Amino acid sequence: MKIVLASHNAGKLAELQELLAPLGMSLVRQSDLGVGEAEEPYRTFVENALAKARHASAATGLPALADDAGLCVDVFGGQPGVDTAFYATRFGYPKGDANNVRALLEQMQGIEQRRAALVSTLVALRSVDDPEPLIAVGRVVGEIVCEPRGAGGFGFDPVMLIPALGQTFAELPSEVKNAHSHRGQAARVMLELIKERWM
Ligand code: IMP
Repeated sequence: MKIVLASHNAGKLAELQELLAPLGMSLVRQSDLGVGEAEEPYRTFVENALAKARHASAATGLPALADDAGLCVDVFGGQPGVDTAFYATRFGYPKGDANNVRALLEQMQGIEQRRAALVSTLVALRSVDDPEPLIAVGRVVGEIVCEPRGAGGFGFDPVMLIPALGQTFAELPSEVKNAHSHRGQAARVMLELIKERWM
């Protein structure tokens, strides 16, 4: 079976391909099939993930898997949440991972309570009309450090310290990040759901 991955984020795609390899399915990136990015107009991760999966399935006629992810900072009441990818633009910086990190560190300057969660919501559809989307959610809690650390991963990984490991996600090898991360948790649940329901 072929599944189209509804994302343009290279970091996410690499992780999902590694995490879902045990399915033995061919995971094709939507950009490789000429599919553009979906609109993400909703206020929850699950609605946006569903919109992305539907868009990819409609455009290709294939089953589709989408991930909507983001950072939820406790002292910001769970923001930036679904707006995470555009966080830097709120403060006049161009969109991008490095500017997101810079904006976050500026906004958290002098704040002692630095707890935040990375969350990932995966949605899979057999077809554009599938009435039973598969949904898997993962969440990891960490502390936002004051200076970026490490060169691995992507997004907020250089400032996301995992207290139990004493390192940021960017300091850890990908298999260790995947073993603990929001996306790793969601992908393991999704893997079982696909095996049970689609195979
Ligand atoms: P989207 O899900 O593609 O809309 O974007 C999610 C946002 O969260 C982007 O800014 C990503 O860089 C960030 N993000 C998603 N997953 C991770 C992760 O595993 N580590 C760090 N940042 C992430």
